[in-house]
Amino acid sequence: MRSDLQKYIDKIPAVADAAQLRETFWMNSRQRAGGQNEIKEVNPEQVKDASQRLLRFAPYLKEVFPELEKTNGIIESELRAIPSMKAWLEQAYETKIQGKLMLKMDSDLPVSGSVKARGGIYEVLKHAEDLALESGMLKISDNYRILAEPRFQEFFGHHKIQVGSTGNLGMSIGIMSAKLGFQVIVHMSADAKQWKKDLLRSRGVEVIEYADDYCAAVEQGRKNSDQDPMSYFVDDENSQALFMGYSVAGERLKAQLEEQQILVDEDHPLFLYLPCGIGGAPGGIAYGVKQIFGDHVHCFFTEPTHACCMLLGMATGLHDGVSVKDFGIDGRTDADGLAVGRPSAFVGRVVEPILSGIATIQDEKLYDLMRGLLQEENIFIEPSSCAAFAALIRGEEMRAYIDSKGLTEKMSQATHIAWATGGSMVPEEMKKIYRETGL
Ligand SMILES: *Cc1c(COP(=O)(O)O)cnc(C)c1O
Repeated sequence: MRSDLQKYIDKIPAVADAAQLRETFWMNSRQRAGGQNEIKEVNPEQVKDASQRLLRFAPYLKEVFPELEKTNGIIESELRAIPSMKAWLEQAYETKIQGKLMLKMDSDLPVSGSVKARGGIYEVLKHAEDLALESGMLKISDNYRILAEPRFQEFFGHHKIQVGSTGNLGMSIGIMSAKLGFQVIVHMSADAKQWKKDLLRSRGVEVIEYADDYCAAVEQGRKNSDQDPMSYFVDDENSQALFMGYSVAGERLKAQLEEQQILVDEDHPLFLYLPCGIGGAPGGIAYGVKQIFGDHVHCFFTEPTHACCMLLGMATGLHDGVSVKDFGIDGRTDADGLAVGRPSAFVGRVVEPILSGIATIQDEKLYDLMRGLLQEENIFIEPSSCAAFAALIRGEEMRAYIDSKGLTEKMSQATHIAWATGGSMVPEEMKKIYRETGL
C-alpha cells in the first residue's frame, strides 16, 4: 500500500473497510441541498444540446437499426415495478424496504444491451456529426436519414475511432462506429469477456487484447490514436461527451415516471442506485436526474469491493490521484463492467455536491441477486448490474441516511430505482454459467 494513504484509513471508516475488502457504505458529507446548482464543470445547456442531437439522429438510427422502429429511433429502456424482487430482498437480507421498488432496464437497451448505449453511442454520433458538418456534406437542418447513404459510409471509412474498454463500452462504440462506416479499434483489458470480443470481431471491429488491466488498455489505445491524425479516441477517463450522453436519461426518466403516475416531490422522494465503474455512466445519469428533481432525488453509486475506485477517490478527495492498487486492492472482480481501478478524472469532482453515498458489494452476492431477480421477476441482468441492489440491502445505513434527511415519515411514498446496467447481449451459454456459478 502507498504509505501516504494510511492517514485516510485511520480517519475514514469506509476507507478502512474498503482497504480490508469489507463491504461498506460511505455517506457523502459534502452533499449539499441545491448542490446541483453549484456544479461548474458542466451545465444544463449541454444536456439540452445532447438531447437535441439524439433527436436529430433518431431518423438515421431508425433507418439502420430495425429494433428502433417502434420508438422512432430513440434508444430507451423500460421502467418496471419489481414487487416480488422487493419481497425477496427483504427476506433474503432481513431488511425492510419502504416504498416502491423499480428496475430501470438499461440491461435491455436496444443496439448494445447496456447503459453504454447511452453515452457510448452518443459520443460516436457527436463525432460523426462534427466530421460531416465540417466536410460540408451535412447541414444541421438536414434529415439525418441521409447518413445511411453509401457516400457517408465511404467518407467515415477514412476515419478511425478507438476506445479502451472492459467490454460494454467497446460494444457500444464498436457497433455504432462500424454501422456508420468508421474503422474501429477496441483495446480490451484482461477482464473483458471472450464473447464480447467475438461479437465485436463478427461486426468488423478490430479488437486488441491486453493481459493488463483497464487503465493499461486505455493508455495504449490513447497512444495509438494520438499517433494517427485520422483517429479519434473515446476517452472514458475524461470524456464530457460520454457524460452528456448519459445525462439525457434524466428527462427520459421524468417522462416515464409521469406516464406511470409516480410522483416525485417533497413528500415523494426518489432513490436511484447506480452501478459505478469509472463513473461516467452513473455520474451522467445522476447529473441529469438532479437537474430535473433537485433535492427530491437521492443518488447512490454502487461498486464491487475489489474495484471500489470511486469510493476511494471521493472519500479521500484524491479522485483520480488514487487507484485501488494504491490501497493494496487487486481490482479483480467478476463484475466486468465495473472492473475499474482508478476513477474518472472529472466525474468525482462534478458529483461531489450531489451524490448521497456509495455502497460496495462482494462478488458472491451479485450472483445471488442475479438468481433472485431471475426467479422472482423472470428478468436476467448481468452480474455487474446486480450491484444496483448493494445500498438497498444495507438497511441500517440507509435508515440513518433517510433519517438525516428527515424522510423517515415519507418513506411509504418513496420510489427506489435500481438501475440495471447490462444483460441482454449476454449469450445463452454464458447466462447458464452465471446461473450455475456457486460463488
Ligand atoms: C460501464 C458499466 C457500468 C458503469 O459505467 P461507468 O461509466 O464505467 O461508471 C455499470 N454497469 C455496466 C454493466 C457497465 O457496463
